[in-house]
Amino acid sequence: MSSLVPQPAAESQDLRARLRTALAATTERLGSAGVPSPSVDARALIAHAARTDRPLVLLDALPEDFEARLEETTVRREAREPLQLILGRAPFRRLELRVRAGVFIPRPETELALDLLRERTDGPLAQVVDLCTGSGALGAAVLDELPAARVLAVEVDEAAAELAAQNLELGGPGRGRVLRADLLGEVPELAAAAPVDAVLSNPPYIPAGAVPQDPEVREHDPQRALFGGGEDGLEVPRAVVAWAARLLRPGGMLVMEHADVQGAAARGLAEAHGGFAEIATAADLTGRDRFLLARRRDDAPEGRHGRLSR
Ligand code: GLN
Repeated sequence: MSSLVPQPAAESQDLRARLRTALAATTERLGSAGVPSPSVDARALIAHAARTDRPLVLLDALPEDFEARLEETTVRREAREPLQLILGRAPFRRLELRVRAGVFIPRPETELALDLLRERTDGPLAQVVDLCTGSGALGAAVLDELPAARVLAVEVDEAAAELAAQNLELGGPGRGRVLRADLLGEVPELAAAAPVDAVLSNPPYIPAGAVPQDPEVREHDPQRALFGGGEDGLEVPRAVVAWAARLLRPGGMLVMEHADVQGAAARGLAEAHGGFAEIATAADLTGRDRFLLARRRDDAPEGRHGRLSR
């Protein structure tokens, strides 16, 4: 052979062709099914069917059941089953979290809560509470990124609490604990955790009448993790704010996710409570209002052992 570059063997050309065909066909099918990012999802399904985490161009062999596995998962994604449930994991910050059907799937937009917290924290960040933890995403990321931190994660749903315990272990073995409790009631074990340095929360907040647009959300995420209670969806977020006031040390931060139309209403919750200063709204990377930020006052009228005000 005259060329200095080794020519690909016949089977490797065949493999490239199979991958190209698979990518084009899968992207086309997912696109027709209305999947928002068909080519990204097609690549993920192909990697899953090929049982690899490496870039597809580096593959030198495909498992025998590649096409069958790809077909099975493509049909599921065409039916708008969430990609994370099909893959069995969800990327969140530096972690690959476990997911399971019936438990709210962590979203990339929630990842920003960690940066907001770290930017605004004054003093130690050693004791962190994650309210409405769901899969445990925020708590697990805290454990992973802050190696000295301990996390208490609170969750009302049994299946979610079990999953959260596994994900907290993944984030930082032995440093996280899940408490199964309903924040709308009295929870002495949670109250006893005060004082803490930070409270993070992605609570349910969708208003009663709203219908989530994406079938992945509408048909797969549990209603309890979506709808916040009350006409305005803010019943659970209001309880989160009240618990944060009870739990935080003076100067400690609350970072709570909300819907893009709820910026003023969420600030209103913290203002009405009276225990917070530096009440602000942070936008996500697309410029939409998505997070309430509030610092626990040290001259708060109720003090940190005060009554839970709703
Ligand atoms: N963000 C959710 C959604 O995508 C709403 C509920 C929540 O995150 N707490 O619909």
